[in-house]
Amino acid sequence: MKTLVYSTHDFDKSFLKKAAKNKHKLTFSELPLNDTSAKLANGFEAVALFTADKANKETLELLHKNGIRYIALRSVGYDHVDLKKAKQLELKVANVPNYSPYASAEHAVTLLLSLNRKILLSQELMYKNDFRLDELVGFDLHGKTIGIIGTGTIGTVFTKIMHGFGCKLMGYDILENKALINQTNIKYTSFEELCQSSDVISIHCPLNDATNYLLDKKAFQLMKKGVIIINTARGGIINTLDLMEALDNGIVAAAGLDVYENEKGIYFKDLSSSNIHDELFEKLRSYANVLLTGHQAFLTKEALQGIAETTISNLSEWTENGISKNDLY
Ligand code: NAD
Repeated sequence: MKTLVYSTHDFDKSFLKKAAKNKHKLTFSELPLNDTSAKLANGFEAVALFTADKANKETLELLHKNGIRYIALRSVGYDHVDLKKAKQLELKVANVPNYSPYASAEHAVTLLLSLNRKILLSQELMYKNDFRLDELVGFDLHGKTIGIIGTGTIGTVFTKIMHGFGCKLMGYDILENKALINQTNIKYTSFEELCQSSDVISIHCPLNDATNYLLDKKAFQLMKKGVIIINTARGGIINTLDLMEALDNGIVAAAGLDVYENEKGIYFKDLSSSNIHDELFEKLRSYANVLLTGHQAFLTKEALQGIAETTISNLSEWTENGISKNDLY
């Protein structure tokens, strides 16, 4: 199947090439999909998209007009695709539901540990010859209550890691994971109770209508003073302005964010010689107790290999049967 890969990066190209072998002819473009770049799809049957690609109503119509019938997503999340429109246009869309969940779960733990033990400040002081410890006091995670929002594939791995740390676990999900209850003693609660009881809250649910701005002013007001917030899911689940207010008034002691609500057009690019016209982002970056990474939670060799292999197998299944087991509808 002739496939155009949008938003290609050095980190994923070799994995995709290796997985495709002689099975599919991949053409790589570094450009993200948007209204202008959609015309590049002319002459292809399929496109492979990344989270930075905007598959909205307009671009989907343009892709369809240019002959595209298949959209292979190189991600678990599909909040960047207007699925209703895609279905209307009879485009097939498949995601990669299961690549290394360890990558994202371990990154969430990395953010949490780095914030709690003030690793960035410690490093900064080290190079200033300032060996005082007064600003570096953390707390034992052992015995603390960790609230996990979304206990699916990644949330499950995160929960098990925190169980290993000796934490008390609280979960909020629309589906209860019975095996996880047996394995970790996680207690499922309402969203409100999770907010009220947790010392740390880590987000692992998808972004959808129900979770958009789930963590807003109202939610922050319920939380324990000094809570740590970790988000490796999607930026839009947190209202950034409300988070900053909660950081200012001390409810949130620290936040580790791999994703940011307006990250499209910023993350994954070298903007070192440009100005970023995003006041919200500038303000967020000014907090010493906010640790930001640029949507890299998935970025391990194992995950990249998994993403590439499933993307290619989705294309193969479409070629052979017209449907793939990862079709989203
Ligand atoms: P998953 O589908 O296995 O798990 C998601 C869980 O969230 C499920 O248990 C589901 O029932 C629950 N959920 C759905 N709607 C909910 C709601 N309204 N309230 C509470 N829980 C709800 O997905 P996953 O593989 O664990 O990935 C989770 C999310 O992490 C993805 O949707 C994606 O957006 C994000 N992600 C980010 C990165 C990154 O690099 N930062 C990498 C992979 C995934």
